[in-house]
Amino acid sequence: MLKIGITGGIGSGKTTVCRVFEILGIPVFNADVIAKSIMVTDAFLISSIKREFGEEAYLPNNELNRSYLANKVFNNQEELKKLNSLVHPVTIKAFIDWSLQQKSAYVIKEAAILFESGSYRDCDFVIVVTSPEEIRIKRVKNREGVSEENVRSRMSKQMPEKEKTELADFIIINDDKTAIIPQVLKLNEYFNSISRTTPSISE
Ligand code: ATP
Repeated sequence: MLKIGITGGIGSGKTTVCRVFEILGIPVFNADVIAKSIMVTDAFLISSIKREFGEEAYLPNNELNRSYLANKVFNNQEELKKLNSLVHPVTIKAFIDWSLQQKSAYVIKEAAILFESGSYRDCDFVIVVTSPEEIRIKRVKNREGVSEENVRSRMSKQMPEKEKTELADFIIINDDKTAIIPQVLKLNEYFNSISRTTPSISE
């Protein structure tokens, strides 16, 4: 079964594009959502995080102490790297276990930091969703009611879009002018056609 990665910068439209694939019956694994869930359910990961960041990383009811951890990793690349190095292997394993249960011709892994985490290496192809910076800022401001400064600050911590598109196998343009459905249909047709003849990277 082919594994397709989907990534892109904040507000580019990754989740929106994935919804279209889901409507076509393609299972989508949202790595960011799953990682958040694993951080409060995987006993080994919880104890590793507590060991590295202190017992305060979790609240008494075992919820993640998000503000405490955010303070630790915000503007501290080393601490962020440390946290990611604990969470990523568990998320990668969850993706592999999940994909083994799927019956479709291909599956999708949606991840904001697919390249940065190295998990693009487990994908047969990577799609990068792109959108001009001004549009992405407008979308995130509307979605979250935050300031332009807030969005720009988060953007500045991400891999630049140009670097992502250079690493992409396919690009989906989501610029409010180009329709995304025909782009998704074309890729769906391609992945369905090659899945019959191409073994996955992990097979
Ligand atoms: P993030 O990484 O920040 O979670 P994302 O790349 O997954 O973002 P989406 O959540 O899909 O992006 O899109 C960001 C916002 O823009 C959402 O509110 C979504 O509804 C809206 N949006 C995305 N694409 C379009 C589009 N083509 N037309 C209208 N609204 C869109």
